[in-house]
Amino acid sequence: MHDHIHHHHQGTENIKMAFFLNLVFTIIEVFGGIFTNSVAIVTDAVHDLGDTVTIGFSWYLEKISKKKRTKDFSYGYTRFSLLAAIININVLALGSVFVLKESIERLMSPEPCNLEGMMALGVLGVLFNGVAVLKLKKGHSENERVVMLHLLEDVLGWVAILIGAVVMYFVDVPILDPILSISIACYILYGASKNLKRTLSIFLQGVPKGVNMEMVTKMIKQEANVLDVHDVHLWSLDGDYNVLTAHIIVPEKTTMQDLAYLKKEIHTKLKEHKVPHATLEFELYKENCHLEAH
Ligand SMILES: [Zn+2]
Ligand SMILES: [Zn+2]
Repeated sequence: MHDHIHHHHQGTENIKMAFFLNLVFTIIEVFGGIFTNSVAIVTDAVHDLGDTVTIGFSWYLEKISKKKRTKDFSYGYTRFSLLAAIININVLALGSVFVLKESIERLMSPEPCNLEGMMALGVLGVLFNGVAVLKLKKGHSENERVVMLHLLEDVLGWVAILIGAVVMYFVDVPILDPILSISIACYILYGASKNLKRTLSIFLQGVPKGVNMEMVTKMIKQEANVLDVHDVHLWSLDGDYNVLTAHIIVPEKTTMQDLAYLKKEIHTKLKEHKVPHATLEFELYKENCHLEAH
């Protein structure tokens, strides 16, 4: 999951509950996977361990984000969520490699699973995640929607395991278990690589997704009293809170009142374009800018 879950809407209590539920369920899965001898269930445990790590970090972040800015971290603790994403990607990648190795060995020499146990865990998994989906379906925030969609994927994973166990119960195809496991592991790795790409782009201060740099520059240029714009920098603290700095050239006759008005206009429009934090430097026409060429 869910680089998104750390957002600000969800109460600490909900996160705390989600963390412990996921942790307990992950432990049940690990032991259940060993008990039933099913690599598919162990693979799902890797996924849920990733979820638990993410939720644990959200919980921690929710606490420290209340501290806001400090003299050591002038932007506050928002960027710590990137650290959570990186740790989670590592957990998922290492876990997936481990279960892939196991699964490929099983593919060569399939072993029977305890199918009754697998079915029981499958039903438990569908119920556990299904109830959470239904609960979140009532919510309206973007965050709740994202988490809900993720849990829906989790339900589908459990449905696949359940169907696999039922099929193996009636037909003797023990190879189905490692096939399921490999599919789930590939899906985890695919998600992790997408997440890695996104996280690295934020780390490297890439222009945030969903903000058009050209359009933002053009929008500033179109304001009355703006002759030109240069040295525009656009990046994101955490993929959600976007930051911009820019140099804006104004006519020499511009008064401080004109500037105050212009600044307000630009900040309002930037907020509409998902840039809540902008720092603007005004320059007079023909003033020599120390940064102009850069
Ligand atoms: Zn999940
Ligand atoms: Zn300048």
